[in-house]
Amino acid sequence: MPELPEVETVRRGLSPLLRGKVISQVIILYPPMVRTGADALAHDLLGQKIQDVQRRGKYLIFDLGQHVLLSHLRMEGKFFFQEVAQEPLKHQHVLIDFEDGSRLVYQDVRKFGTLDYLPKADLAAYFQSKKLGPEPVEETFLLKEFREGLGKSRKPVKPLLLEQRLVAGLGNIYVDEVLWKARIHPTRSASSLSAQKAGQLRRAIIETLAEGVARGGSTIRTYKNAFGQAGTMQETLKVYGQEGQPCPRCGHPIEKIKVGGRGTHVCPRCQK
Ligand SMILES: [Zn+2]
Repeated sequence: MPELPEVETVRRGLSPLLRGKVISQVIILYPPMVRTGADALAHDLLGQKIQDVQRRGKYLIFDLGQHVLLSHLRMEGKFFFQEVAQEPLKHQHVLIDFEDGSRLVYQDVRKFGTLDYLPKADLAAYFQSKKLGPEPVEETFLLKEFREGLGKSRKPVKPLLLEQRLVAGLGNIYVDEVLWKARIHPTRSASSLSAQKAGQLRRAIIETLAEGVARGGSTIRTYKNAFGQAGTMQETLKVYGQEGQPCPRCGHPIEKIKVGGRGTHVCPRCQK
């Protein structure tokens, strides 16, 4: 599943390609993925110009000026850009054509991805309704609020972080890396973390996601971004996918366990 670094990599790829393009035709081959209505979307996008492509958490935001098109890739969603529109392949569900003959294609084998079309003015309320936490950067992801959020929850820390409520952007890969870095066991109750541990966890989240962005995301299983570029973050993963390998910090074999139904990688010696 693409997490914040992978979505940011897609954004950086798409933004220069799409900025200033005017939409001439929209073909939606799998209507249920457009939650605000496929027919309305296909109609309303005509003639609109893409101003920019932005990101919030794991959402891509196509900025159209007065409106935005929000995309969540979920498990397997991908965008492809074609200089010249080509015949759609299987699993390609949305085709957005531009006046210059180029085409943006949304492909999704599992069909879990979503599109929403809304007035830009409603964007903040939309993310609020999704209880989307702050971006994982120094200026917005504040220690005091994070500590309070952890303190109020008896949930195990890993599933709590995956909810996106305390901080946006983590998925199953990066959360395992972050907890290893902060030496916290994924099943530990969030409210049991000391102030010092909460500080270490926040630091690990900021640093790990920033490194993921700098490395162009990770290329795990089928997830490659729209431009055939493979990120390199997977080369530096310390615990994710490393079961049986020695912990880079203490040498104890990394174990794979289940936490909240998710495969979870942990060093049982470093993460008590
Ligand atoms: Zn270890």
